[in-house]
Amino acid sequence: METQAWTDFCSVLERRIGAQNMEIWVRSGVLKPDLVSGNGVRLKAESKYSYDWIRDNLLPDIETSWAESAGRPVNVELTWDGAPQAVVEAQPVRSKRSTNHLDRAMTFDNFVVGKCNEFANAAANAVADAPGQAHNPLFIYGGAGLGKTHLMHAIGNRVAQRSGGQGVFYCTGQQFFDGMVRAFQNRTIQEYRERFRTEVDVLLLDDVQFIAGRDRTEEEVFYVFEMMRAEGKQIVIAADEPPQEIGKLEPRLRTRFSCGLIADVKPPDVETMMAILATKAQAMRLDVPQDVQMVVAQRIRNSVRELEGVLNRLSALHAFYGRPITMSFIHERMGDILPPEAPPPSADQIIQRVADHYHIRPGDIKGDRRPANIAYPRQLAMYLTRSVCKLSFPEIGRIFERDNSTVQYACKKVGVEMKKDPNVRAEVDLLEKIVRGLV
Ligand code: ADP
Ligand code: MG
Repeated sequence: METQAWTDFCSVLERRIGAQNMEIWVRSGVLKPDLVSGNGVRLKAESKYSYDWIRDNLLPDIETSWAESAGRPVNVELTWDGAPQAVVEAQPVRSKRSTNHLDRAMTFDNFVVGKCNEFANAAANAVADAPGQAHNPLFIYGGAGLGKTHLMHAIGNRVAQRSGGQGVFYCTGQQFFDGMVRAFQNRTIQEYRERFRTEVDVLLLDDVQFIAGRDRTEEEVFYVFEMMRAEGKQIVIAADEPPQEIGKLEPRLRTRFSCGLIADVKPPDVETMMAILATKAQAMRLDVPQDVQMVVAQRIRNSVRELEGVLNRLSALHAFYGRPITMSFIHERMGDILPPEAPPPSADQIIQRVADHYHIRPGDIKGDRRPANIAYPRQLAMYLTRSVCKLSFPEIGRIFERDNSTVQYACKKVGVEMKKDPNVRAEVDLLEKIVRGLV
């Protein structure tokens, strides 16, 4: 049942959960729409296993994406193929969020700090410890999947912990808009506004770019903003751009949003990405060795959400195949996350690089002079030409102007010495990196 609603939903969901998750859980047909009606949708997973996984990892994103693509809140029910009907009817699965809309899984404790986010993290901590006093408003901006929403929930959770859950309210620009439209329809706009004044001490308004250009919503946000600030209440705003660059935003909101502290989050460097990966892997009880961490962190540079997508996929593959996560497992099952292999160097490049390394001329390696300081590098160059370029002995012989048996002898000798002497092995390993242009 592939409706337009489903297609729209998929494109929003992909932005949230990343292409990797989308591929493995949705496009592959694991999760399908079962029933789409005016007031809700039912999605069906192909098995109980995938149902559990999707419920635990993707449900909040699925709910938000339906709401975003439909332009209103949608009741999402998740089930699986073969689920007992009664259970599904009686227990529609809801997200784990509480009524203040805080996601308790996003805290300062599990937020990894690096150069990319240390300023925003410090500002968020200061606000969480002294709401309304430190920086008001705090405006956090940056690209998708870099931790803005995480920081907002972290602030909210710390405040809620002190207040027993009272006085904190998280919503996105879209949810603010939805609530406002509903309030207009029900003629309760006065109560809607009042709630912010009387019930909310810390307002966390996420993805505020959504309201830009929606005049009526901007007016309401302005009103709520002024009212809350007048009473010394804390406002935290997040957006994908700084206030000055959000297109179509009303000038007076631009000014208000800029009058506190503006902090950005940037894409993490490799070290921070590795630290985030290690933290998340540990939380998922997933054993990811260092070399795999390095490869993944180097590949995924622009979004922590994308990194989570890769980890989720790793976790699913690991559970499915019951094999430890190693580089060879990655090669076999997730080759697409590996960098494309560089083409091997040519025999002439190998000769050139070996000659440079030993401070001799390439012509010496190819010629038939026999001093010891040249014979050894020549043998190494032959060995590398065979192991790196995979050329046959006669082909190598032609390049080095030597007969077949000399080449065979050289390659065999280097192989034997590498086995016997760790220094030779280290030297050859280093040379291989040099000729491949890796060092
Ligand atoms: P944004 O709101 O900037 O688009 P999110 O806050 O939703 O991004 O982050 C996307 C995902 O990445 C979330 O699951 C979040 O927990 C995680 N994440 C982002 N930055 C970090 C970080 N520094 N440490 C731990 N998790 C992070
Ligand atoms: Mg966000």
